[in-house]
Amino acid sequence: MLLPAERTIVLNLAESPRNDPPLRRHRFTIAHEIGHWVCHCLEGRAAILEPNYCRATDIANDVDRAIEREANIFASELLMPEEAVRAAWEETPEVESVSARLDVSPLAIGWRLFNLGLVEERPA
Ligand SMILES: [Zn+2]
Repeated sequence: MLLPAERTIVLNLAESPRNDPPLRRHRFTIAHEIGHWVCHCLEGRAAILEPNYCRATDIANDVDRAIEREANIFASELLMPEEAVRAAWEETPEVESVSARLDVSPLAIGWRLFNLGLVEERPA
């Protein structure tokens, strides 16, 4: 949850996936909320200080709401910069290796690799 008036991001530990290291998942969630804030300000809506609630499903790759997609894209580009991803992939073209190197989930790096055209298959 993003609380613009307080300039605060609140995480709900109960919504954290059990199969992902907590810090890794929290980094993505925090980056997602920062993405909401940055996009919010870029669109000239900084004066609107309504809280923004995001559920775990909003941070999924297949989310259909544009505002959630843009926050996910922001988080992906912040945590997995294209140059770093390409360099890591060139050095060791294995999802687990690049995932560990950038400290993101295999699913997140799988989507990033797919979107950068470095792999042909969508992650499962
Ligand atoms: Zn969101």
